[in-house]
Amino acid sequence: MCAIEAGKRGRRVAVLERADRLGKKILISGGGRCNFTNLHCQPENFLSSNPHFAKSALARYTPADFIALVEKHHIPYHEKTLGQLFCDRSARDILGMLEEECQSAGVSIFLSARIQEVSRTTEFVVHTTDEQFHAPVLVVATGGLSIPKIGATSFGYDLARQFGLNIRDPWPGLVPLVLEADDRSRYCDLTGVSADVIASCNGQHFREKMLITHRGLSGPAILQISSYWKEPREIQIDLVPESEVTAIFRDPKTSRTLTALRSEFRKTLPTRFTDRWLELHAPTSWTNTALAELEQQAHTWTVTPAGTEGYDKAEVTAGGVDTDELSAKSMESRKVPGLFFIGEVVDVTGHLGGFNFQWAWASGAAAGRAL
Ligand SMILES: Cc1cc2nc3c(=O)[nH]c(=O)nc-3n(C[C@H](O)[C@H](O)[C@H](O)COP(=O)(O)OP(=O)(O)OC[C@H]3O[C@@H](n4cnc5c(N)ncnc54)[C@H](O)[C@@H]3O)c2cc1C
Repeated sequence: MCAIEAGKRGRRVAVLERADRLGKKILISGGGRCNFTNLHCQPENFLSSNPHFAKSALARYTPADFIALVEKHHIPYHEKTLGQLFCDRSARDILGMLEEECQSAGVSIFLSARIQEVSRTTEFVVHTTDEQFHAPVLVVATGGLSIPKIGATSFGYDLARQFGLNIRDPWPGLVPLVLEADDRSRYCDLTGVSADVIASCNGQHFREKMLITHRGLSGPAILQISSYWKEPREIQIDLVPESEVTAIFRDPKTSRTLTALRSEFRKTLPTRFTDRWLELHAPTSWTNTALAELEQQAHTWTVTPAGTEGYDKAEVTAGGVDTDELSAKSMESRKVPGLFFIGEVVDVTGHLGGFNFQWAWASGAAAGRAL
């Protein structure tokens, strides 16, 4: 996006890509259909040490701008849920669109470019194994640490450090959580069971699906909250949102049996999870106090994860180049004029749902328009 915007403004642009093709992450994104933006994109959908930093770039390149590009290329798309836009056909459509735009903006693309060293004299010099590139400006768009299998490296952070820029310690975001041993033995044989929950941590909450995995918890609610989790924080999960599962048992005329209780829980929770939950949390009596406790437990299942599944499974890397180091308007380093950082390498991380791409497009456009 940065190359396209700069190319359109007549700049001579070289894109140096380490892999043998562009946009591998685009191709694997959104289950192969690329959730390329979100209609309801707001600054609140992003984590950053400075929650105001992303506002300017997001306001100057909006989901509507990206949708206009998608429509110009006649790419069919649909809204899946919660404003999330996906390709009807394949993520290849988005990559093809960006490649075409690069071509018409006169951008040169160098694949399998292995960067050995970057130095700066009066201009930046980038040494690859085969060539040297000289340029007055250098934009770093190397992404985060997620999915090393497809080539993620710490290169962007290393380069920022080389030029004296501060890094906010990275951590894996949008990642499944691993339960500690006791909870694993209590719940993980229910692999594949999913429930509509509210997951909360550190002042944030998300109402979406939770999925039990063979080592812990996943699904959109958990992926979302994982970005806000750091050891040794707890996560609270409301298993029966907006329902009062014990209400009817306060009426003495209701038959107070475990079977009746199970069927109340099953109205909200899947059968297998209900059965396991009530095995582990059977009411000690039918007093109002015991019922209130049972109700409370179901609304505040407190989990202390043992960890996350790490960068191998994380959809994004949180943390990164400190936004205090960068201009919010152009993404240029304040200390090193001519050096820019865009996309996931910056300490701006989106929620699940197309926000990370929207940040990549918006920060790329901000830099491209400033070059
Ligand atoms: C499985 C998965 C699914 C996802 N799905 C979605 C989704 O549907 N919607 C969404 O919004 N977000 C999604 N994301 C997140 C999104 O893909 C990223 O946030 C986004 O791609 C970041 O863009 P970027 O340009 O900053 O970095 P990247 O897309 O990671 O691109 C960085 C590029 O730099 C190259 N590079 C790295 N090091 C070097 C080097 N030393 N020299 C030269 N080149 C180098 C890499 O090869 C890569 O091509 C998903 C992520 C994953 C892992």
